[in-house]
Amino acid sequence: MREFVSPQNFVPSDFEVVRNSDRCIACRVCERQCANEVHWYDSDLGKMISDETKCVNCHRCVSLCPTRALKIVKNNDTYRPSANWTGPVIDQLIRQSGTGGALLSSMGNPEKYPIYWDKMLINASQVTNPSIDPLREPMETRVFLGKKPDAIERDENGKVINNLDPQLKLDVPVMFSAMSYGAISYNAHKSLAMAAKELGTYYNTGEGGLHKDFYQYGPNTIVQVASGRFGVYKDYLEAGAAIEIKIGQGAKPGIGGHLPGQKVTVDVSQTRMIPMGSDAISPAPHHDIYSIEDLRQLVFTLKEATAYKKPVIVKVAAVHNVAAIASGIARGGADIIVIDGFRGGTGAAPTRIRDSVGIPIELALASVDQRLRDEGIRNHISLVVGGSIRNSADIVKAIALGADAVYIGTAALIALGCHQCRNCHGGKCNWGIATQRADLVKRLNPEIGAQRLVNLVTAWNNEIKEIMGGMGINSIESLRGNRLMLRGIGLTEKELEILGIKHAGE
Ligand code: SF4
Ligand code: SF4
Repeated sequence: MREFVSPQNFVPSDFEVVRNSDRCIACRVCERQCANEVHWYDSDLGKMISDETKCVNCHRCVSLCPTRALKIVKNNDTYRPSANWTGPVIDQLIRQSGTGGALLSSMGNPEKYPIYWDKMLINASQVTNPSIDPLREPMETRVFLGKKPDAIERDENGKVINNLDPQLKLDVPVMFSAMSYGAISYNAHKSLAMAAKELGTYYNTGEGGLHKDFYQYGPNTIVQVASGRFGVYKDYLEAGAAIEIKIGQGAKPGIGGHLPGQKVTVDVSQTRMIPMGSDAISPAPHHDIYSIEDLRQLVFTLKEATAYKKPVIVKVAAVHNVAAIASGIARGGADIIVIDGFRGGTGAAPTRIRDSVGIPIELALASVDQRLRDEGIRNHISLVVGGSIRNSADIVKAIALGADAVYIGTAALIALGCHQCRNCHGGKCNWGIATQRADLVKRLNPEIGAQRLVNLVTAWNNEIKEIMGGMGINSIESLRGNRLMLRGIGLTEKELEILGIKHAGE
């Protein structure tokens, strides 16, 4: 008989494993597939047994059971109801008093804050300003990210002078957001790199450096420079199409990162340039940045190091004064700013910070775009947003609010097979994504993964064309910041004011 947890530390499981005994043929597939060791065969009883306290609801066993004998359902076991001392609050107290440590979580903030994407409606043409049929007429979803000149300059012969700063050319207004090798697997990285190349867009190394096998995808790679400076050296900077300085991340604004030593395998350690098995801890601040002037220094150091051929991106988390911060970044010489909202995913974050710090990306985006316009510097910098972009309608709304393009992370992982068990920090991802265990990594086929990513973004791009056509708009450029195309529903005056949109019916 296996041991169960001590009664004092017992927390009712979130889920219940329901096994249909008429269908189960005891093939033990679920046992072999579950890295969390939920299922096992008890030879004395002659049947399969489950310990649901270990179940994270990743759906691997449900998906692979050959007889469809398994179902994971929400555990209805309950405490005495209280609006204040709810089940999850009590469970967390029990956990913390058992371990004495901070609670850790993965993926984005799951709390019930308003989702403003769902409170904005898109316009469509009727009668006047007719709509455009995207199947018959050209629609432009290509985007160039980087500083744009204030005016076209000509030489004495009237020829246009090329005074354009380096740009990133995206064939679709979507990029794959930063996810480090270490947090995600080799095969997940390979899938993202291959898909970015195929789609004519970019994926992002995150703070983990660039594996030597992926230098070939350099023209479709954004290399990140984070506070830990893992894997940063000359060849790395030169390999990417752009360099991203990561100041903050939506899932955990204000704090650094921590990759536990067990995830630092030989390959990860070589890529990060740190000893194998050692914890990779990135400090909360960059120790050389305490002001916009310091940031400017790093922006120009990186430009200098790469002969001013690559755009420099600065990524910050969406926090209370994000508009002022963005203005400083634009003046600090960056070419692109990334704002990451509080629903942005992560491999691991302290639960309290993930769920309580930061602001929704929709409000942050609207206020940043407005501030840059008010200051007359909107064209000096491109604006990319991320943090829970779920579908093509979210992208259209983001662009109408002022974004040039979006980053997707969680949606990309779901395309790769992630079932949102939100347990990446455990390192035992049954889908081969957020893990370094060789037996699990091989479950993700990078060719299939890349194809699924290409399918997803291609489908979204077609939907974006269709929605734009419905509005009578034929390019992302004409949609960008066109807030007249949005109306709010169920929002307060203040929310409408920040979003810069009218209420539906107005
Ligand atoms: S995979 Fe399905 S049939 Fe096989 S042991 Fe598990 S529950 Fe039974
Ligand atoms: S990446 Fe894996 S561990 Fe993380 S949420 Fe998705 S399925 Fe779970």
